[in-house]
Amino acid sequence: MAQVEIDLYGVLEVHREASKEEIRKAYRKAALSSHPDKFPEEERETAEVKFKAVQEAYDILYDDDKRHLYDTHGMAAFNGGMPGMGDGPDLDDILQQMFGMGGMGGMGGMPGMGGGMPGRGGPRPNKPRKSPNEEQKYEVSLEDLYKGKTVKFSSKKNVICSLCKGRGGKEKATPKTCSACEGQGYKEVLTRVGQFLTQSTAACTVCNGQGTFFSPKDKCKKCKGNKTTEEKKMLEIYIPRGASEGEKIVLEGEADQVPDQEPGDIVFHLVETDHPVFQRAGADLTATIDVTLAEALTGFTRVVIKHLDGRGIEITHPKVKGEVLSPGQVLKIPGEGMPIKRSDSRGDLYLVVNVKFPGEKWTPSAATLEKLKEILPKPDPLIEAETIDEVEYDPNGDLEDFGGGDPRGGSGWVDEDDEEQTAQCAPQ
Ligand SMILES: [Zn+2]
Ligand SMILES: [Zn+2]
Repeated sequence: MAQVEIDLYGVLEVHREASKEEIRKAYRKAALSSHPDKFPEEERETAEVKFKAVQEAYDILYDDDKRHLYDTHGMAAFNGGMPGMGDGPDLDDILQQMFGMGGMGGMGGMPGMGGGMPGRGGPRPNKPRKSPNEEQKYEVSLEDLYKGKTVKFSSKKNVICSLCKGRGGKEKATPKTCSACEGQGYKEVLTRVGQFLTQSTAACTVCNGQGTFFSPKDKCKKCKGNKTTEEKKMLEIYIPRGASEGEKIVLEGEADQVPDQEPGDIVFHLVETDHPVFQRAGADLTATIDVTLAEALTGFTRVVIKHLDGRGIEITHPKVKGEVLSPGQVLKIPGEGMPIKRSDSRGDLYLVVNVKFPGEKWTPSAATLEKLKEILPKPDPLIEAETIDEVEYDPNGDLEDFGGGDPRGGSGWVDEDDEEQTAQCAPQ
């Protein structure tokens, strides 16, 4: 899309070097020709907007200081409220609506407009062939993505009026042509993006994009001239097994119906919600399992985790007599990851072992400890040193404090999660 700055000179139809006198004359001329009193009632609102835009342009360009600001910085200089710009309608709206007006002489030749650049491509498009798609997010749990899911819901949508078949008026009535858009149904509008304006095509607000309208007495009784009525409809989407974040599920032609257009689609964008136990990467899953110290050393046969479909996953440890489980050890279970779409295969499941060491509640007798010492592997050979200092220590040191005394400022551990982690650790 072309990005174009607002051209206040274009609003008044003067050249950039215009003298104050020329600007004043141009203003008088533009103000007179756009005075709302000169327009029929249905166009008055649009005319009023144009009228005010002309005044705002004059306000800036006739004042030497403001004009200099505008010449050097463009409209950016006036973002965030210039005195006198705050009252009345927003300048954005004014300009958008103003440039949206069809048939205002001279607009086509405005400098700095970058030529006709309709949003939908192609020169001077007719009404879009297809009504707009409805895009929305749809949150799915990992369980549902694992098993697949059918979701039914009721949706309100506009359908073509059954009484007037989408004409909007009574059978024998003839519609009037909209003068604001000259029957086109759309107008070129400028939309503010930051300090720039982008040009695109938008439906005419006077005739609701129809180009024509019926007078009140000729309007269809059922749809009141809207051509469509609202209806409730049951819809169903299917989320396939193994689908993932960002995938789209499209209900073709289920968006609102618009006369003379092919209805658009409802598009759901899948968003995977966080799972308390499993994390997913592609087709693989990972989770942490807790194993007691005794189990890690002596073995077990039990369910270590409940899978996403509710099955218990049972493991027998050790596989080879005498093997122990270490903290952080990873058990890979092939084929127990996520289903892979359109196939029978699955990813793998990676279980990370967390060995739970005995806590405060474990109060073994001296004899038990002596026995354990006998049973468990002996320590490594003593470390030889010439001088030996016996020192005090804090048994609850915190690596968060590591590097905190660095004179260059800041520990190496500060990150976004810093506060959160500290808070979580505090109660222990
Ligand atoms: Zn109708
Ligand atoms: Zn119109």
